[in-house]
Amino acid sequence: MEPPQRLRVNPIACDGVGYCAEIVPELIFLDDWGFPVVDAGPITNDAVMRHARRAVATCPRLALLLTEQEEAPTARTTSRNSPTLTVAEATGAIHPPRAHSGEQSMH
Ligand code: SF4
Repeated sequence: MEPPQRLRVNPIACDGVGYCAEIVPELIFLDDWGFPVVDAGPITNDAVMRHARRAVATCPRLALLLTEQEEAPTARTTSRNSPTLTVAEATGAIHPPRAHSGEQSMH
């Protein structure tokens, strides 16, 4: 049996907006600035895995990936299994509001 996969977000590639949170709300919620905070726990539900795969496939910035690797939670991730990082902590204000650069978002 293969180890369960986990969803990850590359915060450098991600441009916010949060299209992914609409596709897989079970694993992603948006912080106050529209950036995704991802549940880094193992995905064991088939329906949630289908949603996660769809989110990865449709992310316009290729900022989402599925991996088997366990990773320490960061401010951009949280885990159902982590007693040290709560969702409330994960939403801490580490991203100041972005200044508009005039760059167009793809979504
Ligand atoms: S869809 Fe991709 S680029 Fe858009 S918020 Fe989600 S991870 Fe970031």
